Amino acid sequence: MKKRNIGVLDYLTESLVNPLYQHDLYATYHLLAPALTNTEIQAIYVFDSQGALFHDGQMYPKNLGVAIQNTAVLDSVINRKKNYTAVDNHTLTIAKPILLGNMLLGGVSLELSLKQINNDIDQMSDIFLQENQQSLKSITLILLLAAIVLSFIGLLLSIFISNSLVRPIQALALHAKQIGKGKFDLVNSVQRNDEIGELAQSFNKMGKKLKARTEEITFLAYHDSLTSLPNRPMFIEHTSKLITNCLKTHQKFVVLFIDLDDFKMVNDNFGHKAGDHLLCEISERIKGHLTKNNMTPPHLDDALIARIGGDEFLICLPQIRVEKDINHFTQTLIRKIRAPITINTEQVIVAASVGIAKFPNDGKNAEELIKNADIAMFQAKKVGKNTFSYFTLEMDQHIKNRAKLERDLRKALVNLEQLELWYQPQFDLTNNTLCGAEALLRWNHPELGIIYPDQFISIAEETGLIIPMGDWIIQSACKQLKQWKSQLNGQPFHLALNMSARQIYQNNPTGIFKRMLKKYQIEAGNLHIEVTETLLMRDENEAKSMLNAIRQLGVEVWLDDFGTGYSSLAYLRHFEVDGLKIDRSFILDIDRGIYDKALTSAIISIAHSLDIKVVAEGIEKQSHIDFLKQQQCHFGQGYFYAKAIPANEFSEQFLPNM
Ligand code: C2E
Ligand code: MG
Ligand code: MG
Repeated sequence: MKKRNIGVLDYLTESLVNPLYQHDLYATYHLLAPALTNTEIQAIYVFDSQGALFHDGQMYPKNLGVAIQNTAVLDSVINRKKNYTAVDNHTLTIAKPILLGNMLLGGVSLELSLKQINNDIDQMSDIFLQENQQSLKSITLILLLAAIVLSFIGLLLSIFISNSLVRPIQALALHAKQIGKGKFDLVNSVQRNDEIGELAQSFNKMGKKLKARTEEITFLAYHDSLTSLPNRPMFIEHTSKLITNCLKTHQKFVVLFIDLDDFKMVNDNFGHKAGDHLLCEISERIKGHLTKNNMTPPHLDDALIARIGGDEFLICLPQIRVEKDINHFTQTLIRKIRAPITINTEQVIVAASVGIAKFPNDGKNAEELIKNADIAMFQAKKVGKNTFSYFTLEMDQHIKNRAKLERDLRKALVNLEQLELWYQPQFDLTNNTLCGAEALLRWNHPELGIIYPDQFISIAEETGLIIPMGDWIIQSACKQLKQWKSQLNGQPFHLALNMSARQIYQNNPTGIFKRMLKKYQIEAGNLHIEVTETLLMRDENEAKSMLNAIRQLGVEVWLDDFGTGYSSLAYLRHFEVDGLKIDRSFILDIDRGIYDKALTSAIISIAHSLDIKVVAEGIEKQSHIDFLKQQQCHFGQGYFYAKAIPANEFSEQFLPNM
């Protein structure tokens, strides 16, 4: 607006020079009147150099000569000869001086109305506002539409992802969980040709493989790998279930514990392969026996056969309850087991000992029944093997006593004060003089008194306690020999010590013999050791080298209990020994049977032929001595002379007084 009207102002100031100079009101009117037709121009004031109004564009100007009221215009135009511009809400005022050269003639002021502009602005604002609102609506609408479209696309995408990825993966995860829970049979139905499809197939295969493997492992866990018979855990599980049923129905049943007699001999003589073959054959015979008795093994009608150890079998037998029938069943079973088995073209016979425990009397649970049947089996072995025994409470008591003895024996071995060596004299039968003694171990139990070796040597052997005990025996015997040395005054005298297998195999005794012989300055020849066939049987080569080492020291090695074993004569071929000790069972029956007489004299003549010595133990009568003398047996030992007695009594009774 200013730009537009500055032109008008410029035109007027230039055009008005002459009319103002000449005070030509008329010409001025004609210059101003057209300008006033412009609706924007509200008022025009032409004023002289004094600020008095000269013209206002009207035909008859009012206020001529009156000072212009707008002093700011006058100050700028008249005082400073400068253009003036000012604006308020309604009016734009522009003014310019009218100059003739440098001389100020006056000025022109235009008052321009802003009404139209304000109207325009208002109008435009309205239009903008309307436009704004319109576009806001459109934008919102577009945004809304875009959001809907995007959501829809998102939904489609998520449905697609869910169908193609999430669901199959969830199905696979569920499948994996079920496999983890052991449900291997489930098959997932994910069928696709991509990686997920492959994964799903792998899951199905894995389930199948795991199922097969688990069945295999379960079978192995519950069966014996050699005979495929159920094993101990399965037997316990089966018997436990049977017990639960029997408690409801008040039924009875029995558990048979079968242990083969001397099965170790088969392994030792024929090898482990032959042993395995024999075990399989026996398991077939037991199964066959049950079938014969109208039961289908290994587990039908609640009967179950199990193999629970090397040569140990169990039968759970609910069908036969009357003792007479159980006896018959067991007797025939033992007979069947005893039938010859061919191993490497040789006929081998193994017998079995069977222990029987009855439910509910002999055990409340499976473990107890097995334990008590085992105890009964042990009793069957004790009474001669190849037979059976029923469990009794006395047997259990015996086992408990044995356990107590074992505990006490461990305590006794801490300081060895409860152990004693007693001595049983041995006599030279040619001249009836004392030639030595056998040292026999006694345990002076604080509560039970003197306990004999038969009751504790086997415990000591099984528990390994025999090793410290054996060392103590060697030391005590050597010490005793030294004490008696002066009393004996050069008279030949030996002490015979019993050696058990573990002492020989696990604890090379040559070292302790050497040390003790040196410590107590004893002639090695004054010591004998007595070994039994069972000891030699374990490992012939090892035994041979150990016994040779002992003989090298000068200690004599004697074979104890000679004639009672299976192959005493064979051992004489393999082992070099210094003497034989005829078992007391031969001597005790000498008077009664011609066989014992014949065998005793045979053993004595073998000793003579081999140029080794022979001693008879178990001499209880003069008649025994007479016979042995007649057969030229070298030495004798037995109750006839004396029982084993403590060292001081022995010394008093049999050694020359000091
Ligand atoms: P063994 O070596 O055959 O000992 C002989 C056993 O027969 C001794 O029994 C002895 O007291 C007994 N006896 C001796 N004369 C007669 C007799 O005329 N009639 C009868 N009925 N018996 C007689 P003991 O002392 O009870 O020893 C039993 C077994 O214990 C011994 O048999 C031996 O194998 C073992 N033993 C004894 N002391 C020891 C030892 O210090 N160490 C080892 N490892 N075993 C020992
Ligand atoms: Mg002996
Ligand atoms: Mg003996």
